[in-house]
Amino acid sequence: MENNENNCDNYLIVIKDIKPAAKHHYLVIPRKHIVDAKCLTNADKPLVELMIEQGKTLIQEKSNGDLLDSRFLFHWPPFHSVPHLHLHVIFPTREMSFINRILFKPNTWWCVSADYVLQRIST
Ligand SMILES: [Zn+2]
Repeated sequence: MENNENNCDNYLIVIKDIKPAAKHHYLVIPRKHIVDAKCLTNADKPLVELMIEQGKTLIQEKSNGDLLDSRFLFHWPPFHSVPHLHLHVIFPTREMSFINRILFKPNTWWCVSADYVLQRIST
């Protein structure tokens, strides 16, 4: 976990997923306890934006940043394994296995994209 300390700040913690779905698979976790993406409100928008920024920084640092070849996902309740909000940042997408492509597929009934969540709390 080289340099992961640098990715931590007052608001976020970054860890590697223990079962990576691609070469790079990180969890961006807010220190503040939020149960899941459905609980987010407009007041959390800056935090969600910060989480996405952190994900983009990781892609930049680890693979010179092809944002199109990445997935930014939140679990959608009731399909979450841990009752603490976390953003999955997965790249490069082209290296994902068939099963992982399905498990981490945006905008299904078990997973939503970060963009969807941002849009949802922006109104
Ligand atoms: Zn997860």
